[in-house]
Amino acid sequence: MDAIAAAQVLSEIGYLLRQNPNEVYRARAFSAVAWALTLERPDLEALQKANKLTAIEGVGPGIAKVLAGLVETGRSSYLDRLRAETGQPARDDESTIDLGAYQGDLHSHTEWSDGRATMLEMARAAKALGYRYLGVTDHSPRIKVVNGLNGERLLAQSREREQVEKEVEGLALLQGIEVDILEDGSLDLPDAVLELLDVVVASPHVKLRQEASAMTERMLRAVSNPNVDIVGHPTGRRPGSREGASYDFELVFREAARHGVALEIDCDPARMDLSPEHARLALECGCNFSLDADAHAPAEFAYVPMAAWMARRAGIPMDRILNFKPLEALTMIAK
Ligand SMILES: [Zn+2]
Ligand SMILES: [Zn+2]
Repeated sequence: MDAIAAAQVLSEIGYLLRQNPNEVYRARAFSAVAWALTLERPDLEALQKANKLTAIEGVGPGIAKVLAGLVETGRSSYLDRLRAETGQPARDDESTIDLGAYQGDLHSHTEWSDGRATMLEMARAAKALGYRYLGVTDHSPRIKVVNGLNGERLLAQSREREQVEKEVEGLALLQGIEVDILEDGSLDLPDAVLELLDVVVASPHVKLRQEASAMTERMLRAVSNPNVDIVGHPTGRRPGSREGASYDFELVFREAARHGVALEIDCDPARMDLSPEHARLALECGCNFSLDADAHAPAEFAYVPMAAWMARRAGIPMDRILNFKPLEALTMIAK
């Protein structure tokens, strides 16, 4: 079993463990090792033979046992047990996701808002991964603590984008924004600004506990804004610590599909939003998807390969996922 396949198993274990509030600590440990495996791609068979699985960062005896089982049998009995306990079994209609065909991430942050790296550092990391494009989508002004971008700062950012694009050849930087969906479903930046951008990710961040019917209205309004391309982490949940927003998912997903708005599967292990169950519903409603890391640092791009099992579990074919499309096929850019 290669490191990425093992990382996906550990990522799923972490995900299932997070659903038990008493297991959040252990869940984080599994997610952290999944991340280390994705970044470092160790030869698990060699380590197993040498009895050195614990040499991998974060791996103690418990996780080593799970990894040893994976190397020996290609399966994890621990994962099978967790799936049974949480009522989330593997499905026989899972799709095939070829990560080698991944063209680029559409949701990322830089030091312009709450990212921890410069645009140049993020662009170089994306290029090193073989990406053809990267959506630079910092926060909108509403998120004051992170110095969100207004029209003026977006203009300044666009100049930096031009510079970085010249320096990192072969990578298209898509100028975008992660714009807040306000309580009434309006967006945190005027349409005149949004329409100039390549990619608009509209996300719910605050007031997630709004009553379901108000939340439904809010999301319906957001997905009908013609400038919105993607709904970012559509419920705002944080498994193990914060329940996401509740609304009429089917109604909102159908409206998103009607407007050609994609739904995100945010691969950050603290989010994993949409869940495979919600993503499956969205698939049935006709939606496209964006499989993004929501990276705030270069190493976080690895969240996508770790969490790709979520799209597989939801049965989403690759042609419904924007990130597998070449740049020329991303219709939102011309919009
Ligand atoms: Zn967000
Ligand atoms: Zn984000």
